[in-house]
Amino acid sequence: MKGMEKHNEDGLTLGRHAFVVNGNLLTSVHEDYHMYQIEDMGWGHFYYRILGEYLKFGFNESYGKEGTLEYSASMEEKKIRDIIIKMILHAY
Ligand SMILES: [Zn+2]
Repeated sequence: MKGMEKHNEDGLTLGRHAFVVNGNLLTSVHEDYHMYQIEDMGWGHFYYRILGEYLKFGFNESYGKEGTLEYSASMEEKKIRDIIIKMILHAY
């Protein structure tokens, strides 16, 4: 969720080239996925569940806990990040 996110620096080093893929695009992917979750389950259920997950697992820990809403959003983010990394690698 925006404002509370922890940000990881996702990068890849290949020989003398270092690629860093982070920032606005991946944050947007993550947040857009939350919008999809809200549309899918309704905002009341979404916030009830995500706040419950923060309380149960801890805020940062919920990102790595399979089955949570943050985990799903993070996996979507990772999927797009991996596609971008592949595109960069193919360009070289
Ligand atoms: Zn989030």
